[in-house]
Amino acid sequence: MVLSAAPGTEAKALLELLERQLKKSREPEIIEWTVKSAADVKALRACRKALAAETSRLAILARFETDLDMTIAGLDVADAAAWAPAASARPQEMFRFATAAAIRALPIACDSRTVNEALAWADAANRARVPTLLSLRGTDTGALLYGYRALAAGLSARGSAASLLLRAPRYGGEEQVLQASVLLGGLLCDGIGDAVQVDAAAPTRGAAAEPARTLELSYNILQAAGARITKTEFISCPSCGRTLFDLQETTARIKSKTGHLKGVKIAIMGCIVNGPGEMADADFGYVGGAPGKINLYAGKECVRKGIPSDAADEALVDLIKSKGKWTNP
Ligand code: SF4
Repeated sequence: MVLSAAPGTEAKALLELLERQLKKSREPEIIEWTVKSAADVKALRACRKALAAETSRLAILARFETDLDMTIAGLDVADAAAWAPAASARPQEMFRFATAAAIRALPIACDSRTVNEALAWADAANRARVPTLLSLRGTDTGALLYGYRALAAGLSARGSAASLLLRAPRYGGEEQVLQASVLLGGLLCDGIGDAVQVDAAAPTRGAAAEPARTLELSYNILQAAGARITKTEFISCPSCGRTLFDLQETTARIKSKTGHLKGVKIAIMGCIVNGPGEMADADFGYVGGAPGKINLYAGKECVRKGIPSDAADEALVDLIKSKGKWTNP
């Protein structure tokens, strides 16, 4: 999980964000820090110093938007480096950058505008024997989906060990959720991708909401794609004329009581006609048995029948506890 740090980010704001996200198991593992000047290198060095005292699990990816000489001179400031020149880099420049990183044992990240450019980066990294993380930049989700698939196929044909960072472009509001889900979810379900990043503003003083939402969205996509489980998984039926309770209200209520149970799958199904068969591989099932009555399942087995609705939530929690899958929020 990669999170972009906004220009001017201070270590204190970053640490506060990490602390909050750590509690939710949704912290980033890599912070991308854009470097455009010597002052940015200095700020990153100071931030690293502050972060090092608090966490050793976080890697800093410095993304240099400077000329090649300045980029190479500043490589010691990061755990991984990307070089993003204004125009496309030439193969000999790619190799020079990759070699400089290899000498410092730094992995490189390469953000390309086209599949061919990304493959050229993979070749340069391969020659320099440096681990590399490739990504594509663009704003069209359909074109990026195609591009990442073509890139994965191209790397496979070369026998390249390069990893893929899936970057979702930034959109406003709900469109961000849809576009990032289509791109990242689609590729992850294809088995493509080693890391993800949703482009968005990063922490600024007193305004942690946006990176927090970015991390939440990223982890939600990873969970839905089955790539990384960090919270309870809920399955519910679409509801129909057979539904025996208010499905949305009930699901929201059960989520509020059990949403902290990392890795537990809970199915909430409207009726016993089709519900048990459609619960897939849920650990627990909360199923409408009759009007005002709930049946509870552990796996595929019905373990309690006809529980009055107003006592069913508590009975579900007791059932989860009895199977050793409960933790306190
Ligand atoms: S599980 Fe029952 S209530 Fe839910 S959609 Fe299927 S038939 Fe309808």
